[in-house]
Amino acid sequence: MFDKLLIANRGEIALRVIRACREMGIASVAVHSTADEDAMHVRMADESVCIGPAPSSASYLSMPAIISACEITGAQAIHPGYGFLSENAGFVQMLEDHGITFIGPRAEHIRIMGDKITAKETMKALGVPCVPGSEGGVADVDDAKRVAAEIGYPVIIKATAGGGGRGMKVALDENGLEVAFRTARTEAKAAFGNPDVYIEKYLQKPRHIEIQVFGDGKGRAVHLGERDCSLQRRHQKVLEEAPGPAITPEQRARIGTTCADAVAKIGYAGAGTIEFLFEDDEFYFIEMNTRLQVEHPVTEAIFGVDLVRQQILVAAGEEMEFQQENLSIRGHSIEVRINAEKVPGFSPCPGRISQFHAPGGLGVRMDSALYQGYSIPPYYDSLIGKLIVHGRDRREALARLDRALGELIVDGVDTTVPLFRALLQEPDIQTGNYSIHWLERWLDQNFG
Ligand code: ADP
Repeated sequence: MFDKLLIANRGEIALRVIRACREMGIASVAVHSTADEDAMHVRMADESVCIGPAPSSASYLSMPAIISACEITGAQAIHPGYGFLSENAGFVQMLEDHGITFIGPRAEHIRIMGDKITAKETMKALGVPCVPGSEGGVADVDDAKRVAAEIGYPVIIKATAGGGGRGMKVALDENGLEVAFRTARTEAKAAFGNPDVYIEKYLQKPRHIEIQVFGDGKGRAVHLGERDCSLQRRHQKVLEEAPGPAITPEQRARIGTTCADAVAKIGYAGAGTIEFLFEDDEFYFIEMNTRLQVEHPVTEAIFGVDLVRQQILVAAGEEMEFQQENLSIRGHSIEVRINAEKVPGFSPCPGRISQFHAPGGLGVRMDSALYQGYSIPPYYDSLIGKLIVHGRDRREALARLDRALGELIVDGVDTTVPLFRALLQEPDIQTGNYSIHWLERWLDQNFG
């Protein structure tokens, strides 16, 4: 096992990894930008290294600075968290060249899944059901029109290099296709440096269901059920729950086994998430994330496992501690993303936290790097905390979430807390009756 591990991230996820390290007797090294000198992850780690100025391009994304930090401190492995360098195959390659272990899958798998066209082709070949669409990319408008006519409108044009909900455009009919195609390409080129796009059938009222998989890198893999992440705004997840209110045990077992078999076949190592749209009882693959997800705690809650611990074990060449037979679901879990944002516009609200009090009690987990007097810097993601509850069933989880939100105090900045309190009053939320468009529609109706 590693003696020392460096966390190439910040905020709540850095804390999450430090906690796992401490329980495993591994020393932790935090890295930080000059803007994060007073950040909680710096305080909580055993050691810390300043790796550059505030902009993430010069700090949290600076591969040479991070590798130097490893060399200075003697850290043998890096946990990338999510975002930043977590899905950067070049970084993984570079670490390999320096003899540093990356806590995650092999560069090859990150590369395959990082290109959505290649990912889809690979998954299809592995027997995973996909959204009907173009075979590979579409080269020009005529090609796009031909494919769209074949699969039928509406269609969605998506960037092969896409992520974070960017580079996607919907075309309702042939008239809208040309504009959608050109805008998607321009956006993709600007955001990802790669203009390549592909076409999919645009599903009208699907749910976003993702399967948590975990591989040992030697051909064995398990699944840990699904998370329903349909409550989204601008393709960004806002609330996640597990198990999915619309998924039956049979559906879970079937899609879960398909996913576990697929990643086992490619010798995948560590945590991964296979994302699907789910409509009329069918699953359609959209993409795979080759890292730990923001919403991993809901899975941890219902399965009673520590996914970060398993990631570290597998990266160190040890066995994962679970087998499919002994993974079973207990109760229901919901996570809400507490962002420093002003609802309904969702504009970021950095600033000083004048008061902070985290909720507690049975079945409540608060993952946050906030503390009283902390100043949220304006340079990074607006996620400032995740509140995760676990109950014996969905009804208890909802009541517990409402109770915990009532205890939470975050003063000094606007947050998404009032949004969640309002959502919990909605009959559709109470019954779990929502698709990926529900939240946008609700926001329009209530604030539009
Ligand atoms: P990203 O990597 O940018 O997050 P995804 O492919 O994961 O992109 O899609 C993000 C979200 O966009 C999905 O959760 C869903 O809400 C919407 N979406 C993507 N593809 C489709 C589709 N074919 N039909 C309808 N909605 C889609």
